[in-house]
Amino acid sequence: MSAGPDQPAGRHGEPGAGPGQPADRHAGLSSAELTESGGLRDLALSRGEVDRSTARRSDAGWLEAAWASADTRVVVVEDGQALIRFADGEAKAELSFVAPSHAPDGVRFLLGIDADEVVYFGVAGPLPRPDAEAGPADPGSGTRPISLRQAGPLLSDRDAGLMTEAVALANWHDTHTHCPRDGAVTEPVLAGHARRCVNDGSEHFPRLDPAVIMLVTDPDDRCLLARNAMWPQRRVSILAGFVEPGESAEQAVAREVQEETGIAVGGARYVGSQPWPMPHSLMLGFRARATGSLEITVDSDEIAEARWFSRDELRACIASGEIRLPPPVSIAHRIIESWYGSDLDGAW
Ligand SMILES: [Zn+2]
Repeated sequence: MSAGPDQPAGRHGEPGAGPGQPADRHAGLSSAELTESGGLRDLALSRGEVDRSTARRSDAGWLEAAWASADTRVVVVEDGQALIRFADGEAKAELSFVAPSHAPDGVRFLLGIDADEVVYFGVAGPLPRPDAEAGPADPGSGTRPISLRQAGPLLSDRDAGLMTEAVALANWHDTHTHCPRDGAVTEPVLAGHARRCVNDGSEHFPRLDPAVIMLVTDPDDRCLLARNAMWPQRRVSILAGFVEPGESAEQAVAREVQEETGIAVGGARYVGSQPWPMPHSLMLGFRARATGSLEITVDSDEIAEARWFSRDELRACIASGEIRLPPPVSIAHRIIESWYGSDLDGAW
């Protein structure tokens, strides 16, 4: 599978030039802080300030009381979008919550509890009507539906984490309405974090598609960038692909690079991860080194072109407009920056 911004190609993945049971979230810590080595900077969707409160998911009395509280906040998600309120033009963006009494009908799931004991739920259902706060004097302000890909970088840590979790769960519920064993209807259980078959009682948990995304370097520390066959001219990224059943992430790194470019790699080193719930990927970032020939042979089904870039060449090609990098919301962008050594412009 090939180059996506962060999805392995063919499955609507993140912009990697490839394919484009959950742990507790540590409230208040970014992925970089959670990683001993420091990890990648500014992963927009790897943030969060809300405790997922997994122990509450089976506490029916507590859930009922939380839903009845006027202090509880609900994020409504429809087709991967949530309502975002903009102020000061677009300088300030925040999730537009509704009270439980104003939430639409739809699958409900517990998102978590913040440090002030405010409870957050998500609902997969029709978005509330945007209000009309914006006037002609303040274009861009007001409330409107925005996708996670667009909203992620604009939101606070709390809101980015809430929206990422809500979109991921809503996408899963949308596509897992029936039991894979007997085709019967399934119903949400565990506060929307699992579904149970009404016929055989089997429980089904949210599915993730792990994908690897890797920056490959040669002995001169040039990096390998590729254009996915489905992308327009000038768009490039690092390689990516889905992990196959029975395969380790490191094995997937080596296999995907070999398949897509003919380059043999070793020394795969994990550098960080980002959820990419469009619709249900987890992007696992790696660095790897070319170990043999540097001659590139692209798999033309997935990769249109690929080449090695020194830092100077990359800077020059971005400046001239010859290439464009994945957007900053993608882990691909952050991995390329971590190799380059500073911020990079020229994103698509
Ligand atoms: Zn069943």
